[in-house]
Amino acid sequence: MPVSVYQLNKRPTAGRDWNPRAVKKWGLLEGSIALKSESQVGMATGWGSLLQDEQQLEELARQAVDRALAEGVLLRTSQAPSSSHVVSYAPFTLFPSPVPSALLEQAYAVQADFNLLVDAVSQNAVFLEQTLSSTIKRDSFTARLFDIHKQVLKEGIAQTVFLGLNRSDYMFQCNPDGSAALKQIEINTVSASFGGLASRTPAVHRHVLSVLGKTKEAAKILSNNPSKGLAMGIAKAWELYGSANAQVLLIAQEKERNIFDQRAIENELLARNIHVIRRRFEDVSEKGSLDQDRRLFMDGQEIAVVYFRDGYMPGHYSLQNWEARLLLERSCAVKCPDIATQLAGTKKVQQELSRVGVLESFLPGQPEAVARLRATFAGLYSLDLGEEGDQAITKAIAAPSCFVLKPQREGGGNNLYGEEMVQALERLKDSEERASYILMEKIEPEPFRNCLLRPGSPARVIQCISELGIFGVYVREGKTLVMNKHVGHLLRTKAIEHADGGVAAGVAVLDNPYPV
Ligand code: ADP
Ligand code: MG
Repeated sequence: MPVSVYQLNKRPTAGRDWNPRAVKKWGLLEGSIALKSESQVGMATGWGSLLQDEQQLEELARQAVDRALAEGVLLRTSQAPSSSHVVSYAPFTLFPSPVPSALLEQAYAVQADFNLLVDAVSQNAVFLEQTLSSTIKRDSFTARLFDIHKQVLKEGIAQTVFLGLNRSDYMFQCNPDGSAALKQIEINTVSASFGGLASRTPAVHRHVLSVLGKTKEAAKILSNNPSKGLAMGIAKAWELYGSANAQVLLIAQEKERNIFDQRAIENELLARNIHVIRRRFEDVSEKGSLDQDRRLFMDGQEIAVVYFRDGYMPGHYSLQNWEARLLLERSCAVKCPDIATQLAGTKKVQQELSRVGVLESFLPGQPEAVARLRATFAGLYSLDLGEEGDQAITKAIAAPSCFVLKPQREGGGNNLYGEEMVQALERLKDSEERASYILMEKIEPEPFRNCLLRPGSPARVIQCISELGIFGVYVREGKTLVMNKHVGHLLRTKAIEHADGGVAAGVAVLDNPYPV
């Protein structure tokens, strides 16, 4: 049984300039009580002293950045997001960050259950309608997606093969007894990103540790290749679609900084002789068409699979783009995700799934799967008008640091915390609009120190927390599930002072779990 850094040291250190609640295990992470537990948590203590040697850090950072560039851990720049002429490295941590092995295993073990659950929810039109009915009255984006869902249902779904590429995200809740628990933040069912770059970061952290002569530690960095697994899912869907000349259509934005992440999957597909074309929604509305069997054609070329890396935020849609989305949804091409699966990934659905009995109704006769799923749920509260919502609002206003207010949005930077949350709740309290939000228990992970590397900024050693994502892939043909698996992970780390935001939002950086 691996020993977790979270379970060892109980010695608080006074006088630090950050969150005292978070400080309690400082000593271990900084190396001040290193000898006692070096063999068990060598990594945490080891980084502690390394993080104090500024000169060494600078030299290590230079080596790490060069290796990241060589490995293809790249982003386009914010100055030229449509061009690959000048690119830079994607921000990352200098060292891998501690993740309890048991929680990593737990997250992997529950992924196939989450795949099944999302797939089941996407097929239950009655549940989706009931769950989203109050939300769509006040949230025009979700309402628009829902309209397309209804139209497609009414016409009859032409698609027969279904492909889910999702990423379930977690944080490690620090329990009062010092142990840590895996708690789901959300599941991303549309455009779940960074599988490509996450496939390339292990080499960078192994490099850093090797430079330091830490070969044993370097060997502990897990291999990771989500881009291969995600491509395998697309390839399976493509094969089941059954037309040798058909292509994969990747719906992309023109200004796409994260193109190398997407290219990693495209390259895997090309290696299997499956061709990918990148097009914008605008291109679809101009040059996309359906034949009488609702087969999709783009520039005269048949499309087997549509892979969305766009279309998950209101700003991604003009009227023309909504029409393009409808055209794609009406087609018999495999959409990843189809509109129902995108709706299954909303925060409102996440909250309703946490109600007593709901998991059981989706996974009848599977009590173990239900227990595995439920164990990862944090507190989730409906804000629909009524007594239950009133109570949740009262609790959140009384203890703002314990809750997060979430609208039905993706992409980071949309949630409200602390005083801002209280103000929003006071404003929303008596309005129907509150049903377009959910309330969630705020997860408080144990902070640790690491060094964040960003282009154009000096290396910064700071207190951090991490979020672990597990990539899941499933393929269903009619009623038969033909693939259901996990295909890798993503660790993102950010400074503790940032409540919200991912890598794309410029807050978190790429990382690797260091199992402890
Ligand atoms: P989005 O769809 O915008 O990614 P998330 O639910 O993932 O929305 O929230 C964005 C970020 O906010 C997360 O990456 C995490 O850093 C933070 N966050 C979200 N929910 C919680 C929570 N319950 N406790 C602590 N932090 C949270
Ligand atoms: Mg998220």
